[in-house]
Order: sequence, then C-alpha cells, then structure tokens
Amino acid sequence: MFKIGCHLSISNGFLSAGKEIVSIGGNVFQYFSRNPQGGGMRAWNQKDFDDFMIYAEQNHIETLLCHAPYTLNACSAKPDTRDFARRCFKEDIAMLEHFPHAYYNFHPGSHTGRGVEIGIAEIAEVLNEVLYEDMKTTVVLECMAGKGSEIGRSFEEIAEIISKVKLKDKLGVCLDTCHVYSAGYDIVNHLDDVLKEFDAIIGLDRLKAIHLNDSKMPFASNKDRHEKIGQGTIGLEAILRIINHPKLRDLPFYLETPNELEGYKEEIELLKSKRI
Ligand code: FE
Ligand code: FE
Ligand code: ZN
Repeated sequence: MFKIGCHLSISNGFLSAGKEIVSIGGNVFQYFSRNPQGGGMRAWNQKDFDDFMIYAEQNHIETLLCHAPYTLNACSAKPDTRDFARRCFKEDIAMLEHFPHAYYNFHPGSHTGRGVEIGIAEIAEVLNEVLYEDMKTTVVLECMAGKGSEIGRSFEEIAEIISKVKLKDKLGVCLDTCHVYSAGYDIVNHLDDVLKEFDAIIGLDRLKAIHLNDSKMPFASNKDRHEKIGQGTIGLEAILRIINHPKLRDLPFYLETPNELEGYKEEIELLKSKRI
C-alpha cells in the first residue's frame, strides 16, 4: 500500500485531522505534539482519541508521525533549554504511549557553538535519560540540512548519536528529501548510491519515514527551504524515483511542502497517479 499524506494541524483534535487526511486522499499524517515554538502540552482528550482510533481503523489510516517542537534542543548552550528538552521528551512520549505504536520525530539539535562532539554527546545523554525499556514509542531522528550549528547534517552524525544510546531499538531515522539534498546527498542523480551509503552507515532498517519535499535551494547549500513537489531543485522525476524505489516504497511519505489543504490534495493525487 502507498502510504502518503502530509503535515496537518491537530488543534481540532485527532478525529478532525483524520477526516481531513481522508478528504484529501491521504492515509498517513504528521502533526506537532505542541506549539512548534515550544510551550506546554495540549490537553489530552480521551474521547477524541478513542473516536479517532475507530475512524482510523475503518478508513485505513496508517502510521502517524508526531513531530517535536523546533525548540527542543538537547545540546543547547543554555541549561534551561536542555531542561525543556528533557521535559518535552518525557511528556510527549507519555502522551504517545496511548497509541499502540507511535513515532516521535525530532530535530537532533544545534550545538550553538560548542562543537559537534559535545552536541552529539549531550543529545545521546538526554536520550539515555528519557528512553525506557518497555516504552512502545519509537523516537525518530530527522536528517537535517546542516544550517548553522545543526547536528544531523550527515549520516555519520546520526549514526554517532545512535551508537551512544543504550536502548537503540527505540530509535529510528526520518529522511527529509529537502534536508538531505541541501546537506549534499545527491538524491537527484545518485539515489542508489545515497541509499547504499545510508545503509552502510546507519542501516536501512532504521529508516522509518520519509519527509517528501522539494527544495527552494541549490544542492549542498545547507539551507532548509521546502518547495512544492516538482517546483524546486529536486524536481518531479527525482521525487517519483523516491516514492517508487524498491527500498523506500513501503515507508510512509509525509509532505511538508508550502501548501494549504487544497495544494496537498493536488500533490497527493499527482503522486498517487505516478505510483508504479
Ligand atoms: Fe522536521
Ligand atoms: Fe522534515
Ligand atoms: Zn525542513
């Protein structure tokens, strides 16, 4: 089955977002656990969740991806920010444990000038603190474009974090097509080679989700600006090779393109029509 969908707001609840994704032809979606700029937890609505689970079953909604706030930074120079990261991980994972099996995607972090090595060590330290043996949620590290002091700009950096975490089976990776292209992985001309490299360094069995975006920025620019499908530097043909690639095609694909619902609907229709 082609698992395709987009980022949606759940400010009106899970059920409403579920109906929204079905109305635009999708079967997976991503949402923010809380305000992306930080802030507290959303109040948990058990009735909405129960209704959503029934609706999701009836309408074949697949893997949801929960995205952590952008302000979660386990390797900030500021102790307050690192404390927020711990609290946020713990609270969001507790919320996600309501699901039979959830995915929690986060940006590894920015070392804010103190160096990649310290950054990686601190991210791993926080993960070792918040992950626990019998949790059901998988925590997913997103591959980043490498702007500023962002960690996760290379497969090596992601692998390095994973290697320092004790409960490795709780970790996955999300490949954002815009980010990796900006980070210097040529998924347009050498997709097979990039996937071989990913497999050798991280392991393709870790790959749990694809953020499917075109890019406004040139190859290897380290800039993070998403573009609509087919309108950027990656282009439609390369995107179609990605959704149809034997090693990727069974993964869930989440659009994070600059669109309203109608635009997402058109992209989902286009991609479904080109799925082999
Ligand atoms: Fe992201
Ligand atoms: Fe992304
Ligand atoms: Zn991005």
